Amino acid sequence: MTLAQGSTEMVDVLSRQRSAFLQDGPPSLSLREARLQRLRAAVLRHREALKDAVSADFGNRSRHETDLMELACIIQGIDYLLRNLRRFMKRERRHVQFAYRSGRAYVEYQPLGVVGVMAPWNYPLSLTLVPLATALAAGNRAMLKPSELTPRASQALHDVLAEAFAEDEVAVILGGPEVGAEFSALPFDYLLFTGSTQVGRKVMRAASDNLVPVTLELGGKSPAVIARGHANDRTIRSLVFGKLSNAGQTCVAPDYALVHESDLQTFIDQYTNTVRRFYPNGLDSSDYTTIINTRHYQRLSGLINDARNRGTQVLEIGQCPDDVAVRERILAPTLVINPDDEALLMQEEIFGPVLPVRTYTTLDEAIGYVNARPRPLALYYFGNEDQGCAQVLARTTSGNVGINNTLLHVAQDDLPFGGVGASGMGAYHGVEGFRSMSQAKGVFVQGRWNLPGLLHAPFGKIAELGIAFTLGKSRAPSP
Ligand code: NAD
Repeated sequence: MTLAQGSTEMVDVLSRQRSAFLQDGPPSLSLREARLQRLRAAVLRHREALKDAVSADFGNRSRHETDLMELACIIQGIDYLLRNLRRFMKRERRHVQFAYRSGRAYVEYQPLGVVGVMAPWNYPLSLTLVPLATALAAGNRAMLKPSELTPRASQALHDVLAEAFAEDEVAVILGGPEVGAEFSALPFDYLLFTGSTQVGRKVMRAASDNLVPVTLELGGKSPAVIARGHANDRTIRSLVFGKLSNAGQTCVAPDYALVHESDLQTFIDQYTNTVRRFYPNGLDSSDYTTIINTRHYQRLSGLINDARNRGTQVLEIGQCPDDVAVRERILAPTLVINPDDEALLMQEEIFGPVLPVRTYTTLDEAIGYVNARPRPLALYYFGNEDQGCAQVLARTTSGNVGINNTLLHVAQDDLPFGGVGASGMGAYHGVEGFRSMSQAKGVFVQGRWNLPGLLHAPFGKIAELGIAFTLGKSRAPSP
């Protein structure tokens, strides 16, 4: 484990991890399980300290949210890997072509070596430790680069992992964007980046110099499409949960809602009541998470003011505390009704407790609205699982989809998780995560005979018949 700042130290850690990996060879199932158990135990042992660190970084982070959205995800994710690892690691038999039938073909999933993991600030524990667990399960070593915006959580991760792992197994590199830039230029065997689309581009560019394969877990504007007549209590509770958990600072939070025009007033009333029900003690209660820093608070206030200045209806729900120091970090849940397309909050990912609501007349129009924008990381549909739902799913392309729920697809460990287009590439979680950090090595074992081997006398005739048979089967249609 190390606390490296400069590129020399990082290169040194990488080279020590790689040497250890090459010297020890691919770890057995039991060693991988032991590493996962070590990680699990370390997280549980330091659970309270980790929660305190995250809360101190945010100003206030609801402890329930840290438990549910970070610690439970990590432990559940590790347990999933422990339960499935034997199956994931199993050699896979593959079909052998007729002409080579006496041989055998199989795929072996081999660890890649050293995996780099870069993480953002919004879920500083789960977005470092779930990728780490995946890397360890796939038999790799790992170097992590957490965010500088959560310095206490990053330091706590460093300390917890230093206690549990040798530096040549797992290392944490601390630092800001400059360190991030150097980190992303290291010749890893694989790099998983979670963060903004803007930085993701730079990371991919840097990785391409060394042809390092990347998974990019990026952001974007995830829509929630509410079918006509479905702005009901169940829908709105789910939307409020998705939008206000971590005060909307969630990559898969519903960014904006598409609501049928006849349901708009019901939607507003239900949303307002539900927010009040969710936070009965007001917004300065410990259950309402604060905005990560003043810069982001000002960015979000700027988005709301821009909408206001355009004459758009803005509804703030709940009273922010009077104390300016606290107020600077608590942003009230806000609805913005029918902002125009040029409004800043319809141009960029919101990443805060502000929900623009756009009305639509036909479902086709709602689908068109989604398709006219970059492909989202998640899409939510509220309504019956009918033809409308099928249409929305078939005609839009996004990362995961939640039907009648928000966020919960992330907790389904057996589902792949990842974006598409501007919201990312590649996926982790599920077998997809294990495979993305493994080399799928195809092996063909020669049998007693095969087609090329028969070409020579005395079996040449048989081989020629075999070739004629193979080609005959795929003869092109005559003109
Ligand atoms: P960010 O891109 O600013 O930072 C992510 C990481 O990159 C940090 O560790 C940072 O230090 C590093 N970094 C910053 N500048 C860099 C540079 N020039 N070169 C290399 N590394 C650099 O993202 P953020 O603000 O921490 O996180 C918010 C974004 O992350 C949002 O867009 C959100 O949607 C996205 N996100 C995506 C997922 C997902 O799973 N798809 C999850 C959480 C957050």
